[in-house]
Amino acid sequence: MLTMSDLQDQADRRWRDEFEWHLSIVPVLMDVLVDATLPVIPVGLGSRFDKDQITGGGYRDNMAMADRIDTGPVADARDLWDWVIGYTLAVSSWLNHDVPAPYAADIPPVVDRRVNADPLTARGLALVTAGWLIDRADRIVLLTELEDHRAEMFRTIRHLRGRYGVFNHPRRARPTQCTICGEMTVHTRWATSTDGRPRSIEVKTCSTCGDEHREDEGTRP
Ligand SMILES: [Zn+2]
Repeated sequence: MLTMSDLQDQADRRWRDEFEWHLSIVPVLMDVLVDATLPVIPVGLGSRFDKDQITGGGYRDNMAMADRIDTGPVADARDLWDWVIGYTLAVSSWLNHDVPAPYAADIPPVVDRRVNADPLTARGLALVTAGWLIDRADRIVLLTELEDHRAEMFRTIRHLRGRYGVFNHPRRARPTQCTICGEMTVHTRWATSTDGRPRSIEVKTCSTCGDEHREDEGTRP
């Protein structure tokens, strides 16, 4: 029989899985989005070398020009990064809320809301930021005040993941056993519910037999 403490452990584990799954996508998504911003600059034969020649300042000038663009990957990169840094700063201020004077505040590694114009640097900054958050998941789970912000940020991540076809397996996903075929090939992903519930739902898919189970299955009116 499950005790209250078992149920709490399950809920915490689910929250943590969801947290890691979404944040693990952010670095590669930033890489893809920033990389996709480069062709907005007029180019000769399409190489980055040409772009640097034309704008004179390379990536930095490209992004400065891109600052005036309101749609497409440029706007999506700004939007995503703004959600992530905004959330990270909010987490930091909540975590440091009760830190007494002699102790140093726990400050996130990146505080710049501007998107770095180099794809690999943008990926690296997202990686350390996501890592910082994941390392503090045990404390962040208690910050119920930030749940709405987190849920909205995760919706943005899922949306952009679909739009730009970023389907790598997040780094900590471990396959589990299939209840149909018995193979250890069930992967969990998270999706937007089809029945209108605000939080993300779990979707478990077996890559051996194709069995799929959605958490919101059978709950549609
Ligand atoms: Zn299976």
